[in-house]
Amino acid sequence: MAGTSTDGADAPYWANLSDGRLSMQCCQGCGDWKWPAVTRCGRCGTDEPQWRELPFEAVVFSWTKVHYAFGGTDGIAAPYITVLAALPQAGNRRLFGLFEGDETQLDFDLPLVGRASTTRFGSIDIPSIRWRLA
Ligand SMILES: [Zn+2]
Repeated sequence: MAGTSTDGADAPYWANLSDGRLSMQCCQGCGDWKWPAVTRCGRCGTDEPQWRELPFEAVVFSWTKVHYAFGGTDGIAAPYITVLAALPQAGNRRLFGLFEGDETQLDFDLPLVGRASTTRFGSIDIPSIRWRLA
């Protein structure tokens, strides 16, 4: 899992995504969903927020069509679309991912389904999410 965190607060997210599962952190003290991941809840002070597995279901919060081949994105053919997906089942925390499908159908709040994938960045494959309209 080179290129992703293996020892930070978000390490479980990357490990789970590498195994094809989506997970988000939720505080066992106050129920607040956390992203980016934390080691201690800033709201209630509870240590070690729990990780909960979630379905790859979200709604479109926003999207961007990228025409420029930024450094390291050689493995992604430009233009491509990144979508910022809000997860209603996780306090509307938002995750980026690449969009698959007909971009002319994209609109705010439309339901999305996702899948775990990998994205080539530089010389490594990193776990990623691909979203498409439900
Ligand atoms: Zn809390």
